[in-house]
Amino acid sequence: MKDKIKKFFKHPLVVRVLGTLIASLILLVTPIVFGWFELSDVLNALKTAFVFEVQIWIVLSILLLLAVGFLLVKHFKKTPNYTEDKFGKLNLMWRWDLEKNGEKWEVINLFPYCSECDMPMSETFEDYDSGNENYLCTNCDCCYYYIDPKIIKQKILDNIKRGKIKKTRTS
Ligand SMILES: [Zn+2]
Repeated sequence: MKDKIKKFFKHPLVVRVLGTLIASLILLVTPIVFGWFELSDVLNALKTAFVFEVQIWIVLSILLLLAVGFLLVKHFKKTPNYTEDKFGKLNLMWRWDLEKNGEKWEVINLFPYCSECDMPMSETFEDYDSGNENYLCTNCDCCYYYIDPKIIKQKILDNIKRGKIKKTRTS
């Protein structure tokens, strides 16, 4: 019986048929196997994840570089140390910040303070006799003429241009 089976499998026709069948089976099974693993989907997912992570890293790196660059520019553009002056009878302090384009310094946080007691003054009142607006120090009842902040800022920049810096306080 065994011999008959061996002879059957060794027959040229059977070998050819079996060979064709096996080859067909491989061709048939291969896509199914890949289908089970969904290799293309796995590759796409990996690709997407990789690209996504790369984009995040690029964005983060660019943001970090911009932040460092901005800080470096700000650091090397030395802040003017002219932060205090007297305009008329009004004492004023302010801070400097770079303008949005990063080219020029601008005056910010401009505030008046009392020359008698150093008390910051933000409230103004109108003098009924003269019609002028004044700053009032509620601490010592001194009052000072109000000057438009725009005009003061122009005067500050003008003083720097002309080298008329009366006094400075390191900020
Ligand atoms: Zn005062």
